[in-house]
Amino acid sequence: MNGRNFIDGRWRDGSSLDTTFNPSDLDEQVGDYARASRADAEEAIAAARRALPGWARFNMQARSDLLRRAGDIILSRAAEIGRLLAREEGKILSDATAEAGRAGQLFHYYAGEVLRHPGQWYDSMRDGLNIIVSYEPVGVVAAITPWNFPIAIPAWKCAAALAYGNTIVLKPSEYAPGCAVMLCQILEEAGLPAGCVNLVMGDGRELGPVLIEGADAVSFTGATPTGRRILEMAAPSMTKVQLELGGKNPFIVLDDADLDIAVEAAAQGTWGQTGQRCTGSERIIVTRGIHDAFVERLARRATSYRVGHALDPDTQIGPVATLAQFEKNLGFIEKAKAGGAELAAGGTRVEARSRGLYLAPTLFVGTDNGMEINREEVFGPVAGVIKVEDLDEAIAVAADCELALSSGIATTNLANAERYRRASTAGMVMINAPTAGLDYHVPFGGRAPSGYGGREQGSAAAEFFTEMKTAYINHGVM
Ligand code: NAD
Repeated sequence: MNGRNFIDGRWRDGSSLDTTFNPSDLDEQVGDYARASRADAEEAIAAARRALPGWARFNMQARSDLLRRAGDIILSRAAEIGRLLAREEGKILSDATAEAGRAGQLFHYYAGEVLRHPGQWYDSMRDGLNIIVSYEPVGVVAAITPWNFPIAIPAWKCAAALAYGNTIVLKPSEYAPGCAVMLCQILEEAGLPAGCVNLVMGDGRELGPVLIEGADAVSFTGATPTGRRILEMAAPSMTKVQLELGGKNPFIVLDDADLDIAVEAAAQGTWGQTGQRCTGSERIIVTRGIHDAFVERLARRATSYRVGHALDPDTQIGPVATLAQFEKNLGFIEKAKAGGAELAAGGTRVEARSRGLYLAPTLFVGTDNGMEINREEVFGPVAGVIKVEDLDEAIAVAADCELALSSGIATTNLANAERYRRASTAGMVMINAPTAGLDYHVPFGGRAPSGYGGREQGSAAAEFFTEMKTAYINHGVM
């Protein structure tokens, strides 16, 4: 893939090229991408601003049709997008193709949301007046995205932003920008007017300040420290900010759990997609009575996975996406061992036919909630098991964490499930289901510092992507 920046409807070279490599095989180069300069980012913001009035007033039916068309094209090219995603990010081909499909469905969903654009009408307390509350576009949106869902996250930000009449400058992760290039190609093919979506690629630390100062709103997904930095940078210009950040998600297993369901939900939540999901389970909190049987089954499940090349149809767990993340994961494992945690599975590099970043699904037992392995987001196929006495202690341990994105519980007792649903401090709660794996028609996100500034997806996205206006109309009719 040769990817260029997309500014004001034109594909443009950058100041230099950045190359991506296949994490399943570091000897394979995947793409060359034009690196945008700060001046390019300024031009992209200016183009989005020029396009804004036209897009904000674009005929509703035509806007809906355009988003639907974009969704159709994404779905028709899902295999191609999925293959690029698998090569560049390392997600196994079936998951990568499904993610591309999800991106298409998101565009279809927001094509419908265009026609359900919110607004309210009220009687006034004063005779002869009515009140209209309308929801206007927030303006130019900078969408800054991570590498772990390189088509779904750009899609859910762009589809929602466009549906509510905004224009966009998209800045994808420098580690996996290929899918964002394809998304912009598809939006161009679908007929989006020039300037409504712009793409700038490169280092977020360099381009971020220009985007944050120039845009009306920033929708960011990525690591919590980066999110904090963005919030600080947005303060002087009071740019509206939405942050979707890290997780350290607890999954509780109670004595009354169905063991099959508990093991599979914990396994999927922990090791699915190589553990590189913000909603992945990283702390598994297990009550004493079921602890040994559960751990024995879960460790066996860990060693049953076939780890390998993302394009191999037999592979169940792909590589870690980047060398930096791989080394970080190994660092966490070494420190956990040194701190007294006991390895029940994995913990080592996996050798395969290709020179890939393969890490065995890893499970630590005998951990406590104070250990680094249970406090810092690992963002890899690694989890620690914490033994507790009962649901009360499980709730306390789950809540004893700065991050609050997703959470889960395995129990066959309805009252226990409901107690946890109420007690959880996270933005999302799963009962007898993995902490990761979410629908797109309902709100998505966590509580600070896992999330900030309004939820994404579903109709909840309107809260961030629109500004409210309250109009009083004195028509004089009593
Ligand atoms: P990251 O924060 O390193 O990078 C994300 C994006 O921010 C990239 O495009 C990067 O170039 C840009 N960036 C970096 N520094 C910047 C700065 N100073 N100003 C502006 N932009 C900057 O995150 P990552 O490593 O790509 O992704 C992994 C993280 O994302 C994990 O912490 C994970 O939990 C989180 N994540 C959260 C969600 C969610 O919805 N809550 C979803 C996916 C991933």
